[in-house]
Amino acid sequence: MLLDQQWFSEIDQPTGTAFSLRIKEKLHEEHSEFQKITVYETTDFGRMMALDDVIMVTDRDNFIYHEMLVHPALFIHPNPREIAIIGGGDCGSLHEVLKHHSVTQVTQIEIDERVTRVSEQYFPALCESNTDPRANFLFTDGIRWMQEAAAHSLDVILIDSTDPVGMAEGLFNTAFYRECRRVLRPDGILAQQTESPLLHTAILQKAHHSLRTAGFAQVRTLHFPQCVYQSGWWSATLASAESLASMRYQDCVEKKFTTHYYHADLHAASFVLPQFIQTALNT
Ligand code: SAM
Repeated sequence: MLLDQQWFSEIDQPTGTAFSLRIKEKLHEEHSEFQKITVYETTDFGRMMALDDVIMVTDRDNFIYHEMLVHPALFIHPNPREIAIIGGGDCGSLHEVLKHHSVTQVTQIEIDERVTRVSEQYFPALCESNTDPRANFLFTDGIRWMQEAAAHSLDVILIDSTDPVGMAEGLFNTAFYRECRRVLRPDGILAQQTESPLLHTAILQKAHHSLRTAGFAQVRTLHFPQCVYQSGWWSATLASAESLASMRYQDCVEKKFTTHYYHADLHAASFVLPQFIQTALNT
């Protein structure tokens, strides 16, 4: 990470890439039990939070990621009521989930409470649903929580974690997916952020293989632009024992809440993958 007088650069050695944002000032820095948490005021992207110098969220473009991780799964599910979010400490995904009136309970299992407290301080718009009575916050390891969760107790599991390294690595393997399969109801849906289609194709391939091995008959990846993430192109992978092909189109068209990226026709389009990804995933 380089921070000269004006720029923050996220340098990713494994992919030989870097991304920079021009900075006005550093607003916060701390070392939690789990990671370094920093918040900057940028010149053009509003505030930005980084964890271990990896950009997590900015005011300007977080809506794309949060809408695309949450709404496709919730509009495919026939009646999403009980939801779990693994990770999601900035609370942006939680905010999107709670826009759905069918949701009766959402439990966010974030390993690092400090991420949520810092987000409440610097990203109030992402946290404005945190006082919703349907929202529950648990600050613990999502891997262990899933091992202990009751069978057939959830309609949707959203995995909004950091990259598949360190404490998040165990959220991307067959053993964890098997627990998710056990905890989901028969028509339940898992949706996980699955990195860059260009830079992390192998991660996508492994996710598809591990999800199928864990018993998810249907596995589909959608993609979307995400300017501040490596390559500017991101993905989410959905999995279910049942079909992922249909969605509640009319409910989506008539939804009573606003989205700024996701919409009913973009839903289907986002699942149309470029040829090299189709080939890599044998789809
Ligand atoms: N949108 C971001 C991305 O795609 O990289 C993710 C944002 S969110 C801040 C990621 C969160 O996952 C972090 O707050 C981190 O603490 C949390 N996390 C990582 N591993 C975890 C685990 N095993 N259990 C629960 N939360 C975890």
